[in-house]
Amino acid sequence: MNAYLASVLESVKAKHGSEPEFVQTVEEVFSSLEPVIDRHPEYEKVDLLGRMVEPERMFTFRVVWQDDQGAWHTNRGWRCQFNGAIGPYKGGLRFQKNVNESIIKFLGFEQTFKNSLTGLPIGGGKGGSDFDPAGKSDAEVMRFCQAFMSALYRYIGPDVDVPAGDMGVGGREIGYLFGQYRRLKGVWENGVLTGKGLSYGGSLIRPEATGYGAVYYLLEVLKHENDTIEGKKIAVSGYGNVAWGIMKKAAELGAKVTYFSGPDGYVHDPDGIITEEKLNFILNMRATDPMHCKPYADKFGCEFVAGEKPWGMTDVDVNMPAAMQNDVKMESAVKIAAAGTKYYIEVANMPTTNDALNFLRKTPGIIVAPSKAVNAGGVGVSALEMAQNSERLVWTAEEVDAQLKKMMQNIHKVSAEAAEEYGLGYDLVAGGNIAGFKKVAQAMMEQGCF
Ligand code: GLU
Repeated sequence: MNAYLASVLESVKAKHGSEPEFVQTVEEVFSSLEPVIDRHPEYEKVDLLGRMVEPERMFTFRVVWQDDQGAWHTNRGWRCQFNGAIGPYKGGLRFQKNVNESIIKFLGFEQTFKNSLTGLPIGGGKGGSDFDPAGKSDAEVMRFCQAFMSALYRYIGPDVDVPAGDMGVGGREIGYLFGQYRRLKGVWENGVLTGKGLSYGGSLIRPEATGYGAVYYLLEVLKHENDTIEGKKIAVSGYGNVAWGIMKKAAELGAKVTYFSGPDGYVHDPDGIITEEKLNFILNMRATDPMHCKPYADKFGCEFVAGEKPWGMTDVDVNMPAAMQNDVKMESAVKIAAAGTKYYIEVANMPTTNDALNFLRKTPGIIVAPSKAVNAGGVGVSALEMAQNSERLVWTAEEVDAQLKKMMQNIHKVSAEAAEEYGLGYDLVAGGNIAGFKKVAQAMMEQGCF
């Protein structure tokens, strides 16, 4: 690694010893940047990388709410406004028991490059809380969201920072958050949040966008390999909104998801999750039981393997980790390599540990696509939602879907071109990092790098 990159990385490690996810993501992005830093000595002169790894602003706040029995609870809330060089901060809110500062920071850093890759004017941000939505009543979720927004509303806005959903934050939570924002501000500024309901400014195709976008990206990879999607069998992890979108789009295009997983284990459905009935069952299972996917196996009479992950199967063509960070560790990567499955398409944010990712990238015959490119369709359609809100217009599902497809084609194209430009061949991981980085770097340089 180039000396300047190495020294910034060292200082990140020294400063963030207790934030392993953040250090991991910086290391991953930096591992692709050597040729760019070599070609642009002006970046080192102004310590551009030292600035880039420091969030522009990050705050922690207290969120106090009352449960249905009248007991009081105090949670921690965060918002990290990581980089606003190319647009208002944009990124989701994650409500999950294990959320901490390191996770919010890693997600904000990733988001900066992902949002840049969409080609749309959105900066990087992320937020969330260690609130655990499991087992909470609707009224409790509403009171929590109201308390969360009461702390956050002064620091966001359609031209400032535009939060959205992430794990634990879906349409219901966005509704309560928006209701409280409107109550407190007394203005109709629905561009302040995305992932809204259709009745108050949401965009068609937003719920499907991340999963659909991932499949559109896969189509580009297949095209590059002179391959087609028809008949392809796919293993995904997770069965949330994103996995569901992959299942739906894959089925529509003649492929099928045959494995998926939950925290309790994995399900193998050799017929594929392709019927309306099965897709609706997944949606409902997610809404009612985010911890168990076994009910699907019970209902449709297929195999369920408790406590295992769906990696390393020999009867699939594509692996798509779509559940959470560090889901695929070295042990799973070794199994995937042994199975020789050609397409490894990351979907969740940082789903692969760095050692496992590097191992898979070096394994001959495996093509690796990085999550920050593959899952960018979600936030990309959020930017289209913002555009509709500011135009006071509603686009049709066909219009949004066509734009999403074009966006994913372009993300694949700029990534492949960036890798090519630096003599790296068809390296989508390096290409995605370089293409995302270049635009943010240029904007920071031109703005005088505050
Ligand atoms: N949380 C999603 C992501 O990781 C969506 C963010 C958004 O739509 O702003 O990109």
